[in-house]
Amino acid sequence: MDEILHHIDGKETAAAAGDWLDNIEPATGEKISRVAAGNSEDVDAAVSAARHAFPGWAATPAPQRADLLLRLADALESHRDDLARAESIDTGKPLRLARSLDIPRAVRNLRFFATAVLHAHSEAHLTDGQALNYTLRQPRGVAGVISPWNLPLYLLTWKIAPALATGNCVVAKPSEMTPTTASCLARLSAEVGFPPGVLNIVHGRGPEAGAAICAHPDVPTIAFTGGTATGARIAKVAAPLFKKIGLELGGKNPGIVFADADLAAAVETCVRAAFANQGQICLCASRLLVQRAIFDPFMERLVDGTRALRVGDPLSDGTDQGALISAAHRDKVLSFIDAARADGGTIHCGGTRPDDLPARCADGAFVTPTIITGLPADCRVNQEEIFGPVVTVTPFDHEDEAVTLANGTRYGLAATLWTRDVARAHRVAARLDAGTVWVNCWLLRDLRVPFGGMKQSGVGREGGQDALHFHTEPKNVCVHMSPAEPAS
Ligand code: NAD
Repeated sequence: MDEILHHIDGKETAAAAGDWLDNIEPATGEKISRVAAGNSEDVDAAVSAARHAFPGWAATPAPQRADLLLRLADALESHRDDLARAESIDTGKPLRLARSLDIPRAVRNLRFFATAVLHAHSEAHLTDGQALNYTLRQPRGVAGVISPWNLPLYLLTWKIAPALATGNCVVAKPSEMTPTTASCLARLSAEVGFPPGVLNIVHGRGPEAGAAICAHPDVPTIAFTGGTATGARIAKVAAPLFKKIGLELGGKNPGIVFADADLAAAVETCVRAAFANQGQICLCASRLLVQRAIFDPFMERLVDGTRALRVGDPLSDGTDQGALISAAHRDKVLSFIDAARADGGTIHCGGTRPDDLPARCADGAFVTPTIITGLPADCRVNQEEIFGPVVTVTPFDHEDEAVTLANGTRYGLAATLWTRDVARAHRVAARLDAGTVWVNCWLLRDLRVPFGGMKQSGVGREGGQDALHFHTEPKNVCVHMSPAEPAS
């Protein structure tokens, strides 16, 4: 049985209290490894190592920090097959997806921030010939990073890369459900030469290890990605300690399809946007709003496209839809489908556990991709984040109605809209409550753009310059310039 240990001060370490958590493969329900269950003692040790490493790391010239991050990216790339397999086994996602999305994006995150920091600039203001003001952007110390299970290495690297590139040290807690690739990353960081204490990984449950990071007085920055309820808990702990927090939270993202859209492209992308990673991407379009004139043909194609998705063993090449993260999450998703039935919704496909899985996956956490119509906009299924392979489709008549429906939840992470009318695309994009609006596409990511959510989808922005600014403290230095020498 594999053991997954903390990585503290450059060393693999068991939990101080000797506790372990089971790591379960969601596609089979089998225990595959045990994971160190950290608590505040482990977090204290990691923070102390990070604090000790901080002055040296902060003083390391940016090109040297960048070189180490680039070496780490190369190391990930050279282990990409093993990492993709580990990610697929930990999460239940198709191995194909881990290979094509998760691991390449983790590599890209490291390369992006390694090089971004070399192009960072700071401002200067000349004040009426009297003074020169310039801005120092200094690393803040120890960054606490807490990440979820849906895109484990992808999101962990997205969060730690800008912190490390700007000269902070990191104490990171990956999701207790998907610890494996974080441990690989930590091991590789030591191999490529990161100084001990610069990157520390503490495993464990959120309310123990995660909460200890958020409450630690020597961790002034918290970068969190996860659910909205957890984000609220973290904000409550961190705000009175005056920490800088970035919260990337849940979504209930609308996809608006106008009658003039390229129907084939819209449907093909909506299938992907609804069901990629079994609907477990915060950016998934889980509420499709379709203009009434094309509702029937859209539905016909959507159902056909969804039925064509092959649910199966995540490790098989032909699988489009793997397992959800856990049996408990599967049951939660199924309970939402029951709620849709109770609210009078029509299930057009899916809505069940598949019955034709290979024997290895018979006890896995699978749900067939599900399309529901006929639900009111204010019902639970249309309001709460399900985070599974469930999409609702609702007709609308006019642009105003589409915008009202799209904005009618407490979330504001992302939206997609489909139209050939350029003026409408810009007009509607400007009116949507969403941190990201995709027009005639979905999940097309440029790592330089601000990324984050409005309303209860989050606080702050990641990506490009925003991430570099988040992890640095701007300090204004005002230098008085001597008055001109008196004329002799
Ligand atoms: P979660 O909130 O349950 O857990 C996320 C992380 O927080 C885990 O590491 C967990 O152990 C930790 N945690 C839990 N309780 C904690 C506490 N009290 N203090 C500190 N840490 C704690 O979320 P999840 O189920 O792992 O992930 C799914 C959620 O993440 C969804 O809501 C999804 O929308 C969201 N998500 C958002 C984004 C984004 O960029 N906005 C990206 C991916 C996922």
